[in-house]
Amino acid sequence: MGMGYEYKCPDCGYNETFDLGVGFGFPEEYHKLLIKVKNGELGEELHKLIKVYPQGEIDTDKVLAVCNECGNIEVVTDLSFYVPKKERRKKNNYVMNNDLFINYEPIFSFPHKCKKCHGNMKIVFREGQKEINLKCPECCAALKLSEIFCWD
Ligand SMILES: [Zn+2]
Ligand SMILES: [Zn+2]
Repeated sequence: MGMGYEYKCPDCGYNETFDLGVGFGFPEEYHKLLIKVKNGELGEELHKLIKVYPQGEIDTDKVLAVCNECGNIEVVTDLSFYVPKKERRKKNNYVMNNDLFINYEPIFSFPHKCKKCHGNMKIVFREGQKEINLKCPECCAALKLSEIFCWD
């Protein structure tokens, strides 16, 4: 189940809702993403990794990223690549995040680029974490979290 976070700027009227986490469409979305990775549509690194580590998994969580250059805030698919800590037999053709964080280790972080300025983005927040302080991308004032709700 995904959570939406609505942030408002008290100064300039900036108002944005970020839908994070994964929805009930997860297995199907994961499958589509895996096809893109195998086709090399999501970059050469992931394309190589899935060939070298066929048991690897990709973190498909929608997370919040902030641009280091311009402060733009975007929802991105995490796309970190994980490999199993131990050899394991898969029950499904995907794993949920709790399983991923416990039984797998990350070996690659996807280099997210800002849609506005192409600067490097940093992942700052994922669903379920304690909310962080965000700055307004327009005027740099501290954003206020005005609502949290379920989107799926
Ligand atoms: Zn503002
Ligand atoms: Zn930017």
